[in-house]
Amino acid sequence: MTHSRNAKALAVVITISLLRRFMSKVDINGDLDACHCWTGAKTKKGYGQFRHGGNACQAHRISYAIFIGPLEDGEEVDHECQNTSCVNPRHLRIMTKPENVADANVRRAEKRKAEEAVAADLGDVGF
Ligand SMILES: [Zn+2]
Repeated sequence: MTHSRNAKALAVVITISLLRRFMSKVDINGDLDACHCWTGAKTKKGYGQFRHGGNACQAHRISYAIFIGPLEDGEEVDHECQNTSCVNPRHLRIMTKPENVADANVRRAEKRKAEEAVAADLGDVGF
C-alpha cells in the first residue's frame, strides 16, 4: 500500500466532557454567524489543534464531525470564510482534495489578476 496524504475518516463519540473540552477553546463572540475562533493551540497556518483519541487533530475537522457528521476517508473540510482558525460549523463544508486545490488555484488567479490590475492602474498614472 502506498502512503496517502489524504485526510483520514473521522468520527467523534460526542460526550458532555468532550463538548466541554472542545467548547472551552472556542470564542463564539456572542454571534452564531460570526467566525468562532479557536483559542487553543494552533498550527503555523492557524489551524486549531485538538487532542482526540491520543492524536492531535485539526479543530475544524472535529467541529464538523461533532456538529454536522462523520468524515469519510479523503474528505477535506474547507473554510468558506477562509479563516483557518474558525471552527463555526456554519462556515465549514466538505471538499474532496482536487476541489480544494482547484479552489485555491482560482483564488490565486484572482489575486494575481487584482495585482495586475493595480499594476496597470499605477502604469496609467505614470508610476
Ligand atoms: Zn468562519
